[in-house]
Formats: sequence, structure tokens, C-alpha cells
Amino acid sequence: MNLITGSSLIFFCFSFIVPQVKLSAQTQRKIEFPDLPNYQTLISDLHQHTVFSDGSVWPDIRVKEALFDGVDVIALTEHLEYQPHWEDLPHKDRNRSYELAKEYAKNYDLIVIHGAEITRDLPPGHSNALFIEDANQLVHDDYIETFREAKKQGAFIFWNHPNWIGQNTQGITELSPIHEALMKEGLLHGVEVTNENTFADQALIIANEHELTILGTSDIHELIDWLFDIPGGGHRPVTLVFAKERSELGVKEALFEGRTVAWYQNSLIGQEKYLIPLIESSLVVDTAYYQMYGNKETQIANVVIFNHSDATYLLNNESDFSFYHATEIIELNPQTSTTLSVKTIESLSSFELNFEVLNAIYAKKMHPKIRLDINIKP
Ligand SMILES: [Zn+2]
Ligand SMILES: [Zn+2]
Repeated sequence: MNLITGSSLIFFCFSFIVPQVKLSAQTQRKIEFPDLPNYQTLISDLHQHTVFSDGSVWPDIRVKEALFDGVDVIALTEHLEYQPHWEDLPHKDRNRSYELAKEYAKNYDLIVIHGAEITRDLPPGHSNALFIEDANQLVHDDYIETFREAKKQGAFIFWNHPNWIGQNTQGITELSPIHEALMKEGLLHGVEVTNENTFADQALIIANEHELTILGTSDIHELIDWLFDIPGGGHRPVTLVFAKERSELGVKEALFEGRTVAWYQNSLIGQEKYLIPLIESSLVVDTAYYQMYGNKETQIANVVIFNHSDATYLLNNESDFSFYHATEIIELNPQTSTTLSVKTIESLSSFELNFEVLNAIYAKKMHPKIRLDINIKP
């Protein structure tokens, strides 16, 4: 009797402790970006699958992956019309995936949003409806009825992988009259500019022209670690959501208002008005001082910049000055400081540095520009 109790206790302890150990061992993979002056930056991945459609895992794995990655907001968006595991896993309730994830996440600071993927031929192609109340009500033969029902439930709807070669062999994005009609009726609010490992360049143009919210998602079906090579330093594509508050309502308001930036393969993609404050919040000048050579002060200003984000910033120098230890392209590694040695020719008490941020894009081949004000430490 005692022996049994003892083994049970040991088993209980292990099953309780092991996940905690794993979580702390993987903190370095957590995705981190700074808040903006007026908004909290929430890391979201709003397009994911489980066995409840064509994914390979149970919803608890999606929750654990999100916790490992420091993702603040997730949505499991099962295909409404594509259920390949149906014979093995028949389920009458299309809300089940969401309910399970919500339950697994209840003891963590993770926001789980109720979503579904409307899975149609192009046009309109695939779209995700988020913040829905009942996925079962979205199952209709006619796509327009599905979109209208989603809207009735208050959904934020975005066009998925508009560049997908499965539906357009050229891999390009073309706005159709059906998309125009959806937008006109208030049934389409955003578009993925990145999905899984792909980039939809024309989708960014369409988003800018039609004021659609810019999103980037993993669209994960198997494991995040395998697809995005997390052990090798990769990251899943995410949408940075700039919210007034850390809540489902805060996320919803920000998505409808278009306050997002997609992060994909180290590139930041979004509207210039959100990229600039994000970059400025990321790159903070810690100190600046003139370098000594023996007892002589040189006119080389050492500028120490800390990068408070997970992006490796690639900056093209557009300043009046050149650098002593670098060419025109500067690389600022994530979550660490970099010292730039600026040749100011004369000793200055302050000056500015100007850069084009090459790993950020707000329109076709357009990179935002930033200015850093440097004050020399007296
Ligand atoms: Zn899809
Ligand atoms: Zn999908």
C-alpha cells in the first residue's frame, strides 16, 4: 500500500515538474519586442491547425509551443470545410479545438482567440475569421453566407496565404471582384503578407491601397520547432499587435484599427507609422564618448546602442559621418549592445546619425528611415 502511494507520489512530482523545467530551459527562444510609447506590443500567431482539421497535434501542443516562444495571443483556426481526420476523429462540435486550447491555457498568461478557417477555392480562397462565437454556425454551402455569419458574430476576417501556389501557380496575389465585394460589404479586414515560409509581396501593396490590416502567421500543421528550425536560431512568423490593453478586446480593437507589424525571417513588415516607433523603441543609445588613444582624445565617438528586440537590425548609413570600424552597413544583434565608432572629424557635444533600416519594409522596396540623436557624455 505504502509502496504504491510512494510510486504515485514520485510519478505525480515528475509529471508536475518536468514541463516547468522545460519551459525555463527554453526561455532564450522567447520572442521579445519592446512596447511602443502608447501601446503594449503583443506577440500573436493567429493561424494554426491541430488534428481537429488537417494538423498533426492535439491543441495542448499549440499552447505549449506558444508558451515556449513567448507568444501572447494564439488562435487555432481549423478548416471548416476540410476535415481529413474525420473518419478517425469524428467530432460534431467545430468549437472543440478552441475550447480545449482555452482550458489548457487557463493557468497561463496566454490569450486564446476563437477562430476558424473558411476554406474555399480562389476567389475568395482561404480566410480566417477571429473572435467568432460559434464555428458551427459558419458551415454553409455558399461562402458569402459564411462570411456574413462571421460578421454577424463580430469577426475580424483576413485573407490567408493570398500568394499560395496551391491556388495560384505563379505565387502572386491578385485582388478579384469577389475580394472587392467582400471589402465593400465590410467582410474582409486584413491580409497575410507572410504565411509559413512564404512572402506575399503584392499583398503588402494591396494592404496599403485598401487599408487592410497586415498579418504574418505560422499556419503551422506539424511542429513549430521543425518547420522554423528553432534549435538553429529560427523563429516562427508572428504578428506584433500594438494594443491598448493586454486582453482579447485589446487585440480585437488593435486588429480592426490595423495596428500591427509582421515579423518574418528577421524582416519587419508593416505601415511606416508603426515600424518607426517600433524601431525607435528597439534601438536605445546607452552612452556616447570620445575614444582615448593613450592620453590623447581622438575624434572617434564611440556610440553604444542597445537593441531591445529579437530582430537583427541591418542599417544602411545615411549620416554625414563614416565609421572607423565598419563599412556603410551596420548589423545590430538582438538583445545586446553594439558600439559604433563614428568619425566626427571634430569634437562635438551632440550630433545625429541617420539610417535606412534594411530589414524593415513598408511598401515595395521601401525601407523606413530613422534618426538617432547622440549626446556625448561630458
Ligand atoms: Zn489555408
Ligand atoms: Zn491554414
